[in-house]
Amino acid sequence: MARSVLVTGGNRGIGLAIARELAAAGDAVAVTYRSGEPPEGLFGVRCDVTSMDDVEAAFEKVEAEQGPVEVLVANAGITKDTLLAMMKEDTFTDVIDANLTGAYRVAKRAIRPMMKLKRGRVILVSSVVALLGSAGQTNYAASKAGLIGFGRSMAREYGSRGITVNVVAPGFVQTDMTAGLDEEAIIKNIPLGRQASPGEVARVVRFLASDDASYITGAVIPVDGGLGMGH
Ligand code: NDP
Repeated sequence: MARSVLVTGGNRGIGLAIARELAAAGDAVAVTYRSGEPPEGLFGVRCDVTSMDDVEAAFEKVEAEQGPVEVLVANAGITKDTLLAMMKEDTFTDVIDANLTGAYRVAKRAIRPMMKLKRGRVILVSSVVALLGSAGQTNYAASKAGLIGFGRSMAREYGSRGITVNVVAPGFVQTDMTAGLDEEAIIKNIPLGRQASPGEVARVVRFLASDDASYITGAVIPVDGGLGMGH
């Protein structure tokens, strides 16, 4: 039977690539979207991950459509870059709320049904900057580093229930999020000399969600062209 998958922020960018990759592998895939229309061919649920009510309603719809979520990909994320000296408190907390507390909300909602199933896969989308740091991104880097401690703690709590929790840490990926950046300056520091395509991240997520990754949990997998050198 097809597994029930939920990808947050699955309407564009990396999340959409992950959703398409898992759907192509035979899973029943739902994606969250905030506005506009859900992508064609995928089950879309409107959900802002900063709202627990939205998260609850989204899970209820997904469970009714395709059963309890067995694979959760917490991918939704935002940036609000500015130097710390200029950063207002809500610029900091908004990013934490969407990127880190958002992952908490969906993981918290997913975990009990996974415990009942006695199996589950949670994949958190972090970033290379979680461990390297990034000027102008104290809020974003803190949120992405937080996902690592969060995920590893979850891995310890639920390993005995057959649930794995892993983190992917992409480098620079060609999406709307990186569209305004200076490509030449970025590429200089990447051993592979280019940005990633969303599909290159999606295929790693597909592996982590697969049976082939059955003995991997609490791991942080870099998908960064060598930018972080394994950090
Ligand atoms: P995009 O900006 O292209 O897409 C972001 C996605 O997150 C959209 O689907 C967006 O929904 C969704 N989203 C944002 N905030 C919320 C929210 N509050 N509730 C629900 N959905 C939300 O980004 P990417 O595809 O590039 O990034 C995806 C993930 O990968 C993010 O977590 C990002 O931090 C991470 N990442 C990206 C890298 C890159 O180089 N691009 C590198 C490393 C990590 P909507 O369309 O409604 O706005």
